[in-house]
Amino acid sequence: MESLASTSRPLRIAIIGAGPAGLYAAEALLKQRDIVLKIDLFNHFPTPFGLVRYGVAPDHQSIKAVTRVFDRVLADLRVRFFGNVTYGADIHHQDLKQFYDQIIYAIGAQADRRMGISGEDLPNSLSATAFVGWYNGHPDYRNLSVDLSCERAIVVGNGNVAMDVARMLVISPDVLAKTDIADHALEKLRASKVREVVVLGRRGPVQSSFTNPELKELGKLAGVDVIVNPRDLELDPISMSALEGNHAALANLKCLHQYADYSERSAPRRITLRFLVSPVEIIGKDGGVAAVRIVQNELVADANGVLRAQACGESEICEAGLVLRSVGYRCLPIEGVPFDHATSTMSNSTGRIVDPTTGEAVPGEYVVGWAKRGPSGLIGNNKPDSVATVEAMMADLPQLQGIHDEHRDLARIEALLRGRGIDYVTYHDWKALDQYELAYGARRQCPRVKVTTVADMMAIIRHG
Ligand code: NAP
Repeated sequence: MESLASTSRPLRIAIIGAGPAGLYAAEALLKQRDIVLKIDLFNHFPTPFGLVRYGVAPDHQSIKAVTRVFDRVLADLRVRFFGNVTYGADIHHQDLKQFYDQIIYAIGAQADRRMGISGEDLPNSLSATAFVGWYNGHPDYRNLSVDLSCERAIVVGNGNVAMDVARMLVISPDVLAKTDIADHALEKLRASKVREVVVLGRRGPVQSSFTNPELKELGKLAGVDVIVNPRDLELDPISMSALEGNHAALANLKCLHQYADYSERSAPRRITLRFLVSPVEIIGKDGGVAAVRIVQNELVADANGVLRAQACGESEICEAGLVLRSVGYRCLPIEGVPFDHATSTMSNSTGRIVDPTTGEAVPGEYVVGWAKRGPSGLIGNNKPDSVATVEAMMADLPQLQGIHDEHRDLARIEALLRGRGIDYVTYHDWKALDQYELAYGARRQCPRVKVTTVADMMAIIRHG
């Protein structure tokens, strides 16, 4: 028999998820020499690019330039895009096992972590996941109820998502009007009464996870003061020693000192960065958020030497009408794939899906991105991560049995989807929608105007 990945037996690969991790994996596969392959990319929404479209903040347009690389991948004749196809509903694990030699799960981490405090589910106490989706025109969040009639908002968390949402609440709407922000969000932000955003970090400045460019960016926002209390920058001995050689933390600390030293505070809006504080209760009034009870923390080393926040001292009440919890994302289990609940990732060893009971690799199944390593890293960090998984896939090829050759026919999967009444979106279809959004944007002098419902997307694709 001809060997797998040859002209007569092209390797059939399915990638679930057309976000950055899935597309970087496809790119790495296309670069393999002496391998004949066909890749099918399945995606829940008709639109590709995952977090680049629905996660990256609208005022960070330059990060979205990576879609040019991804577009080349999608345009490759060895790749087919199947948008508007949901894994677990429209296509199943057993289908993939039947039609593909190798499967890559690139589903990301769509759910949000919770704080587990009272009042968390009050109206206007929202996850950053939902708020980010709302301003980015994500179909699931376009109808999110966001009330910006309060003067103070509280953001919980000290990562880059916290920086994004804090910035979005105070940045000039005129700046946002030149971006691809969703219309409904721009309209609300124009009428916003929010004047102060208080960002709560449960640990100290040395332990914060935001990166330096994002921290510095706050200080460059027109009409915004950044307030830091110098007392919050007094470090305990363990944090002091953790600073040694830690260039990222040193750069952040320097920037925070500059904010703390800056005495002229006359801007109409402000971001206040607080450290070593945790929310312990969200207090409601009249069916909304009225305030947050905050407790002071100290850092305590756990058995592994990791510094944890531990409540100490008195609590205080901070009045606020909006709370955004930005405490990280979470991957959810999907049909047919073992899940590690301790790490909230798919059970894997360097990208190979493993059976947790035996520790053995599941032949032909792989994972990339946040579903593989957890929700951390910038868009570009997905590239080496996906390349590493593809290297494992290539190393496994000689032992791979592969599917029946009669299932290698490319038309089989199209017939299966059509037979199930799935109105799947091809690359050509996506390009029609893309052109529509770009042309609309050109008329409005912004990069694009996103279509925010799947029904509207499909109507534009099918009827122009
Ligand atoms: P993250 O970097 O993991 O930050 C999560 C933050 O939430 C941490 O400060 C964490 O504090 C805090 N936290 C967790 N549980 C908490 C609790 N119960 N109470 C209070 N605070 C809590 O996650 P992220 O901000 O969601 O970002 C995800 C990834 O996307 C990151 O790698 C980020 O760099 C990346 N990203 C990048 C950009 C950009 O490049 N501009 C934009 C957005 C996102 P502890 O440290 O104490 O756990």
